[in-house]
Amino acid sequence: MIPVVMPTYARIDVVFERGEGAYIWDTNGRRYLDFTSGIAVNALGHAHPYLVEKLTEQARKLWHTSNLFRVAGQESLATRLTRLTFADTVFFTNSGVEAWECAVKVVRKYHYETGNPQKNRFIVAGGAFHGRSTTAIAAAKSEKMVKGFGPLLDAFDQVAFDNLNELRAAITPQTGAIMVEPILGEGGIRPASPEYLRGLRETADEFGLLLVLDEIQSGVARTGKLFAHEWAGITPDVMPIAKGIGGGFPVGACLATEKAAVGMVPGTHGSTFGGNPLAMAVGNAVLDVVTAPGFMDHVNAIGASLQAGLEQVVARHPSVLELARGKGLMLGVKTRVPTADMVTRLRENGMLTVAASDNVVRILPPLTIGEREVAECLDILDKTCREFPT
Ligand SMILES: *Cc1c(COP(=O)(O)O)cnc(C)c1O
Repeated sequence: MIPVVMPTYARIDVVFERGEGAYIWDTNGRRYLDFTSGIAVNALGHAHPYLVEKLTEQARKLWHTSNLFRVAGQESLATRLTRLTFADTVFFTNSGVEAWECAVKVVRKYHYETGNPQKNRFIVAGGAFHGRSTTAIAAAKSEKMVKGFGPLLDAFDQVAFDNLNELRAAITPQTGAIMVEPILGEGGIRPASPEYLRGLRETADEFGLLLVLDEIQSGVARTGKLFAHEWAGITPDVMPIAKGIGGGFPVGACLATEKAAVGMVPGTHGSTFGGNPLAMAVGNAVLDVVTAPGFMDHVNAIGASLQAGLEQVVARHPSVLELARGKGLMLGVKTRVPTADMVTRLRENGMLTVAASDNVVRILPPLTIGEREVAECLDILDKTCREFPT
């Protein structure tokens, strides 16, 4: 008999009951160090008092009105996001893939409005992940995601990640945009080089393309800057975000320049739930915390400490771990042993992590952790490595 919850996930047989900061307890009362953070979603950890306060305050007033009306929380969050970034305008969604779909529509409409409707194709990177809609799986092209779901939208030309020459060679008169993650998340915590990102910006300008950076996982202070592309000193034209901005509440957003969003006029796009007052209360609260003085310094300091510690554990167990990589608190260790086994044993030893491609165990702690949690993570990882035969 099919499970009542459609069995699209091979779920781990654990149910969680409550969380606090970087810790989470299952229904048997067992405590875990949560360095998955709901896959980079619970940016401020579990049950952050300020987020709880802002959400419940809003819940007592008003939950939903629809986008038929102005929504004050959207206006304040969009004002703040545009002040803090390259963007001039924001569309709010409930998830990452919806934000990314909005980016696809912005690009198509831009070229249509500016007299180049033939520029309707996208260059995307191998190893990329943009979500599970039919369009997003058409972009990522991984066999596991697309098999059996065709015919898919033929609009995505895939090239190797972090290889500018190959990308430039793939540009045709039909190319409308370049779309990449500044750090591959599902693809194995692979940071693009700053030179590559600068090259993408120059290439997009040279060929009249829009640059879309998917910061759904890397955004909202995860790497120690509000958005990861800031490290390269460039800006995109369009940027889908989600995950961290909701701190655990479903929120996504598509940020764009005025130029790129030229065609997004009334009637061209919409969402019933997107940007509702509850979501906006939480989004604004997350932004309050991550933009407070010293917060980003904290992420950078604690991220550097964790990464240095991971590198030491790697050096102690060269037959188990190959390397540590990432930026800020978007980190990963590449395993020489089966990655799924490592994730399972880490959990048995009290720490939640999540696997990615390229044999990487992702380490995505809440941005609020301190040295105590770093030390605990490194202890558990070290202990777990010792359990594998050398
Ligand atoms: C998680 C993720 C998505 C999809 O987000 P959903 O909320 O699951 O739809 C898209 N792009 C990147 C880079 C992601 O990490």
